[in-house]
Order: sequence, then C-alpha cells, then structure tokens
Amino acid sequence: MRGRAPLNLRLNETSYQVLGLNIRPSYCQLAYAGLSGHIQKNLTFETPTSPKKLVRAVEKAVSGLMTERGSKNTKPFQRMGVAIPGHVDAVSGRILWTPTHKELADFPITEELKLLTGIETMADSDCNVGALSELWLSTERKKDRSTDFVFLNVSDFGTGAGVVLNGDAYLGHDAHFAAEFGHMVVEPNGPQCRCGRRGCWELYVSNCATWNRVHPRTPFDAVRFEEMLADARNGDARSRESIFETARYLSLGISNIGFAFNPAEVVIAGRITAVWELIEAAVLRGFGSPHLRYTVRPARLSADDSLLHGAVCLSLQEIFAGPKFWQR
Ligand SMILES: [Zn+2]
Repeated sequence: MRGRAPLNLRLNETSYQVLGLNIRPSYCQLAYAGLSGHIQKNLTFETPTSPKKLVRAVEKAVSGLMTERGSKNTKPFQRMGVAIPGHVDAVSGRILWTPTHKELADFPITEELKLLTGIETMADSDCNVGALSELWLSTERKKDRSTDFVFLNVSDFGTGAGVVLNGDAYLGHDAHFAAEFGHMVVEPNGPQCRCGRRGCWELYVSNCATWNRVHPRTPFDAVRFEEMLADARNGDARSRESIFETARYLSLGISNIGFAFNPAEVVIAGRITAVWELIEAAVLRGFGSPHLRYTVRPARLSADDSLLHGAVCLSLQEIFAGPKFWQR
C-alpha cells in the first residue's frame, strides 16, 4: 500500500450538544444534536398560550431531553437556537410580530429562556433558519453546494421565505425581517390579508388556500389536506384542479422572485411537495421566461424538519467558521 492510511476524523457527538426549538402555531418541537448538527432526539409539546407558559414548557422539555439522553451524559446543553413563526430582532432575540401568536409580540424570548434554563439562546425567523438548514446540508454535500437560493416555506396558513445571497442570509437593513414574499400583492382586489392589505400571494398558495378551493365550507385540517393531495395523485379532478391553481400562483410569485434575485435555486418546503411530480412543470413554465434559469426543487427535509434542523444549525453557526451566515 502506498502512502499513509487515511485518518477518518469525526466530530464528537456527545461532548458538545446543542438544542433547536421550532415554535409552530399549535405545537413546539425541541431537539438536540452534536457538532455535526444531525438531530439525535426530539420531542413535541403543545404550544402554550402565554409567553411565560411557553418558556416554562421549554424548560420542562429540556429536562425531558436530558433524562432521555440517559445517565451516561450529564453535560448540560451548550446553546439553543429558536425558530420563530414571525418577525424577530435577530440581534437581541426579541419577538416583534407573529401572525399566529399576537401575545408573543415584544417578548424577549432568548433572554427569558436563558434566565430560566441557563442556556445561551439565539432566535431568528423560521424561514431564515429553514434556509440555514438547506445551506448547512448543501455544504455537507459539497458537490451541489448553492450559495444563492431562496427557501420558500409553503405552510398551512401562510407562506414565508428566507433568502441566501453569496452564502449569507439577507436580513433586511435592521435585521428585523426580509424576503416576506408571502405578502407580495398579486391580486389588488383580492381578499383581506392578516398583514392589513389585500390579495397577498400567501392567500393563493398556502395549504389552506389549496384546501378551500375544494372544501370552501370545511375548516382546514392538515391530515385531511394530505389525503386530498393523495386524491390528486390518484386522479381526483377537483383536487387536481386546485393544486394546479396553486402551482399557477406559485409560478407567478417564483418568477417575480427570480427576476428580483436571479437565484440558482428556489427551494420549496411544505406539504405541497408531496405532489411535486404533478406540479413541477406548471411551476416552472407557468410564468417562465428564457431569462430565468433557476432550479426549483423540494427542500431536502420536510418543512418541520427543515425548521427544527435549522434551529439546531443556528445554535452551531457561531462555533464554525463556515458556512458563513449571519455575521454581524
Ligand atoms: Zn399580506
């Protein structure tokens, strides 16, 4: 044999562990990971209705994960990253606005979590951390690394985005919010949006919008929505019609985003990716242009997993020099 035997270096997954917290409208997910960012265990709990109850529930969940880790590892978790479903001052970690949890506005969540758990905590909007997850995963697979992309989270009641340019998130001039494509007006006389305007993009592409075209009188239900997507795959005409309408609006918004940023990729997370093979052509060609040469593809992880993994990555990013992200 010529040369030296290769030395396989591995990150120690137990000596330095961090947490990721993903706050969703009705449930929260908490996970821990080692330096690789690969999630080792996670648990889910109901999202409490007040900020104080929320931080106490997180503290309890942190203790739960400590117990699950077993008696062999008694080292405390070192850091915690939090994905917020709304606007957050990414520097101070104060929540500014969440459409689903108005009571969280102005709540200094990172400060309060640190006080209660003793763990250094940082927070950013869920879509920014979703973008971080994609950047982290693409860095792991160096071959298909993209440093200019848009992460689009088509969620049950809204649509958010995170933009990565030259390997960095674009956070807006004050690091409060950016890339709120869900609130691009696409129909000036459209229905009222929760942002106060009319006809925003998310009113046409969210899962609830896709559901309501078929079931206008039945409240949205995630499980039944996934059944509806399965119906579309099985040829149900009304379900298909609705997802193609969503695809048409996705194409409209994505092509506008394409002309604004000329990204290499637009990455879509959310339940709608379950019918990706049906809608891909419509999303690409609907409002396409020879000038637009991006790839549009589903995220590497499900929407929840992207946000949870991104929250873990947020807590790790300052430890590693790369991927370069959120430098201030
Ligand atoms: Zn809006």
